[in-house]
Amino acid sequence: MKDPILLQLTSEQYSILHEGLKSVVHYRKSGLSVNHIIGCPLDCAYCIRHQNNNFDMKQPHQLMSDEEVVNMLVQHRYFIPHKTPLQIFNKATDPFLGAVRPHTHCMLSLLDNRGLMNHILVITRYVVTEEDMRKLNQLQHLRVTLLITFNGLKDSRIEPLSKKITLKSIEVACRQKGRTKVIL
Ligand code: SF4
Repeated sequence: MKDPILLQLTSEQYSILHEGLKSVVHYRKSGLSVNHIIGCPLDCAYCIRHQNNNFDMKQPHQLMSDEEVVNMLVQHRYFIPHKTPLQIFNKATDPFLGAVRPHTHCMLSLLDNRGLMNHILVITRYVVTEEDMRKLNQLQHLRVTLLITFNGLKDSRIEPLSKKITLKSIEVACRQKGRTKVIL
C-alpha cells in the first residue's frame, strides 16, 4: 500500500507561519528538536500548537525533506555527534500518524546510517505497530526511547483520541521493545 502523501505549505501559508515553527531544528528541553512536519488531527486540548497558532492545521504538512533536515541538524551549532540528545516531531505533529510515520522511520534511518549514537526521543499517543517496533529495533547505532503518553483522563474534550488506541500501542511496544527503550 502506498504511503499517505504529506501536504506542502503554500507560500501564503508559510508567510504567516509562527516563527517558532519556521525554526525546524532548535534547542528545546535540553536537546535539539526536529520538526519539519507540522499539523495534527488528534485535537488534544492541551496541544502546544495552541501557542504557535497552528492548532487549526489538522493535516500534516512538510516544510522540507528528511534529507534536508538531517543535514541541517548535523550542521547545527549545538549538535555534537553521539552526545546531543535529540527529539523528533515533539512540537507540531505525532510521529506515528499515517502520513508522518514513513518520515519518522526515514529520519531515524538517515541518522543511524551515519553511525550516530545520539539518544533520540520519539513521543507518541497514536498507533504503534509491530512493524514500527521491528524497524526501530533494526537501528544499529541510535539509542531510541519511545515514550507513549497516556493519561487516562475521562473527559474526551481534553483528549478525544480513544484510550484503546494508546493502550494497544503500549501493549505492542512493551511486547516487542528489543533494543528500544519504552516509557509510559
Ligand atoms: S497528538 Fe500531539 S501534536 Fe497532535 S494534537 Fe495531541 S498533543 Fe498536539
